[in-house]
Amino acid sequence: MSFDYDLFVIGGGSGGVRAARISAGYGAKVGLAEESRMGGTCVIRGCVPKKLMIFASSAPEFAEEAQAYGWRDASAGAFSWDAFKGRLDTELDRLEAAYTRGFESVGGTIHHQRARIVGPHEVELADGSRFSAKHILIAAGGRPQLPGIEGEALGMISDDLFLMEQLPGRVLVVGGGFIACEFATILNGLGAETVLAYRGDKVLRGFDTDGRLLVTEQLQQIGVDLRLNLSPVRLEKDGDGIKVSFDNGPDTHVDAVIFATGRNPYTKDLGLEDVGVQLGPNGEVVVDEWSQTNIPSIYAVGDVTNRVNLTPVAIREGHSFADTLFGNKPRYLDHTLVASAVYTRPHEMASIGMTEDEAILRGGVEVYDARFRPMRSAFAGSDARVMMKLLVDEDSRRVLGCHIFGPEAGELIQLAAIPITMGATKEDFDRTVAVHPTIAEELVTMRQPTRRHDEPQGGDA
Ligand code: NDP
Repeated sequence: MSFDYDLFVIGGGSGGVRAARISAGYGAKVGLAEESRMGGTCVIRGCVPKKLMIFASSAPEFAEEAQAYGWRDASAGAFSWDAFKGRLDTELDRLEAAYTRGFESVGGTIHHQRARIVGPHEVELADGSRFSAKHILIAAGGRPQLPGIEGEALGMISDDLFLMEQLPGRVLVVGGGFIACEFATILNGLGAETVLAYRGDKVLRGFDTDGRLLVTEQLQQIGVDLRLNLSPVRLEKDGDGIKVSFDNGPDTHVDAVIFATGRNPYTKDLGLEDVGVQLGPNGEVVVDEWSQTNIPSIYAVGDVTNRVNLTPVAIREGHSFADTLFGNKPRYLDHTLVASAVYTRPHEMASIGMTEDEAILRGGVEVYDARFRPMRSAFAGSDARVMMKLLVDEDSRRVLGCHIFGPEAGELIQLAAIPITMGATKEDFDRTVAVHPTIAEELVTMRQPTRRHDEPQGGDA
């Protein structure tokens, strides 16, 4: 049977474009449908513009430090959202064009419209045209979920932040995950009066507890009005902006509310139920390790599968898919050790592998935990402390986890992730000669365990 395409990809984000481009590079005839801009969440309304906003928001901190280093007139001055946004838009246009060019240059075809699956080998576009494909790849990503409270339409989601015409003077961020912590940091740094309301007692659930405490404290130290154990229940517009009522605390008036209350797989209206593609409890496409669904011709990668929702994971899944199907190099991604970083400031929180809470449940783990004031900010009079933590298996000596709270922790964890992924032992770390004076040298100079978790504390865990 002949098909219009060897592969049809739904979604032009990080995972979809990588799979499409590599498959086309192997000689496959590839079509791709994208209803919005090429590049998807990460490039257009996520990681990339977010990181640029982090850089923008850190200027006052650098100016303050410069003064402590003797630069008497150092000042960041006034921030112009217009000036920044103009440059941001230009950069996003450039990246979108690069994504488009990268795929088209290897012979791929982009359909700038929404697609849905109408059969195991057939997709239908919004204009009614239909294409057959030997394989279909769903890479539709995720969408923010709202908490379902009264008046929530008055709030924004993270996508909206990059489109704002002006910076709000007073803002409420709701949530305590990656996006909430990063956006509270950014908006505070850019000068907005920022309230962060989180329903738990410390942000970043799932991260190492000590790291969570440090991020929670840092948010308060930089001036975010952090309100814990609190959830908004109603938003109303009145003469003083948006009035927010909480379940447990006084009303607050702000100019903008940003919901960062998680994301769900974007599987709605893709025709998946009609074709019989199996979905999980959160609407995610259920796949095996090869990213294949229960319908053999249909695959899925990235956030739509709700495995590990990070851009580099989606990219690796997409690349592995292409190598397997069209490159004669079968491989799949092992999701067990994936590093990640939360870009708060001045210190980031970055992690790979086992947390100390997991170590307590498991037992047989040594903890090496170093806290210190880094040279650069300490000289400038800051009390900010770095944390470096290694979790080591008592028997095999393998490093099972690493958690860093400090400046550029994202950069540091990327390098620590290499030996840890290779199965390095604590002794491998120890025989590595330090680079002095650096923050990272602490990773190879922690001689004695700070504590041990010998006995498993978690029943069957
Ligand atoms: P997260 O799942 O990280 O956090 C969601 C937060 O919202 C949690 O604090 C959660 O609380 C809270 N929450 C959920 N539902 C409600 C509710 N009904 N009312 C109040 N609070 C609620 O999601 P994010 O939106 O922050 O990020 C989405 C995804 O994007 C993540 O999977 C992350 O991997 C990715 N991302 C990665 C980044 C990076 O790598 N630096 C940056 C930004 C995003 P609780 O913990 O109590 O459940």
